[in-house]
Amino acid sequence: LAPANVRGISPYVPGKPISETARELGLKEADILKMASNENPLGSSPKAIAALRGALETLAYYPDGAGFDLKAVISRVFGVKPENLVLGNGSNDVLELSARSFLTRDDSVVFARHAFMVYPLVTQAIGARSIEVPTRGFETDIDALVAAVRPDTKMLFVANPNNPTGTFTPWNDLRSLLERVSPRVLVVLDEAYGEYLPPELRSPALEWIARFPNLIVSRTLSKAYGLAGLRVGFAIAHPEVAELMNRVRQPFNVNQLAMVAACAALEDFDFIEKSRSVNAAGLVQIGAGVARLGLEVIPSRTNFITIRVGAAAKIYERLLAAGVIVRPLAGYGMPEHLRVTVGTAEQNARFLASLEAALAAP
Ligand code: PMP
Repeated sequence: LAPANVRGISPYVPGKPISETARELGLKEADILKMASNENPLGSSPKAIAALRGALETLAYYPDGAGFDLKAVISRVFGVKPENLVLGNGSNDVLELSARSFLTRDDSVVFARHAFMVYPLVTQAIGARSIEVPTRGFETDIDALVAAVRPDTKMLFVANPNNPTGTFTPWNDLRSLLERVSPRVLVVLDEAYGEYLPPELRSPALEWIARFPNLIVSRTLSKAYGLAGLRVGFAIAHPEVAELMNRVRQPFNVNQLAMVAACAALEDFDFIEKSRSVNAAGLVQIGAGVARLGLEVIPSRTNFITIRVGAAAKIYERLLAAGVIVRPLAGYGMPEHLRVTVGTAEQNARFLASLEAALAAP
């Protein structure tokens, strides 16, 4: 029944849920450690949770379809204007909206190999053509992305830092990409992990929007802000681009509770700082632990580390049997790697001990 482009979609396979794994292993849910989906091990901002309690009285009403309050907070925090903003039901929604607003089946879309799975997915859903560009090692190759642009290319997705590799591309290289690609190519810069960058590497991309109206910056509250379960993301773009995307956006795509929590979380700077520092310590802890086991990692600027373990499917199964869920990356063309989300010090220690046991098992 479905057209060929829909039948050709490779489904997005989410991380295995804790409840299902607990049932399969006969363990208590509390004993399962999920380090598979780059969630915040500290939970959510206590301010967001308090705001949610107050909002429970308002659920009979539609949310504000224009997101007035949330856009006001984002504008304040990011130094942009409400007319630059498009709200999404998670940043996946923003990525999909970008595709749906600007692509037709006659267009092609450029992105790197080992880039986020949703880029080919939204491209294929439109029936547009994906152009997958080789990486240099596991680094995004900016020159190759620029060279891959064809006359029919309408969109280019690039994440910085990138998932599932965790790699960071210098901002000068991304500015050079914008200078070199045709202004008819919309460049979607996915900054899902932007909050984890150290201050000296923070993104300057919002300053580029006036000069590059073809730039769409995508952000999420699912990672450092700890609101993955509520689904809030947003795009920051030139007002004309944002206006077109807002026409295509479903009214009420972000629900009332999500908006209330997001408003509180965005200005809970203590929580974000704590998330950053726990993550920075965890990256060091896991990095050192994995090096001790003689394994190689891809240097990460995110809240996860991608580790070359060799027979990754086998190690994944052994970790799972020990109640530790990580992410296998065969679907990303990386069959020797596992991706682990940085947890608390205690969670990281349990992961490292389980990994050591999984490697040693006959
Ligand atoms: N972009 C990248 C690079 C990601 O890794 C993720 C989360 N896996 C997302 C976007 C989407 O996150 P969300 O929809 O939760 O905002």
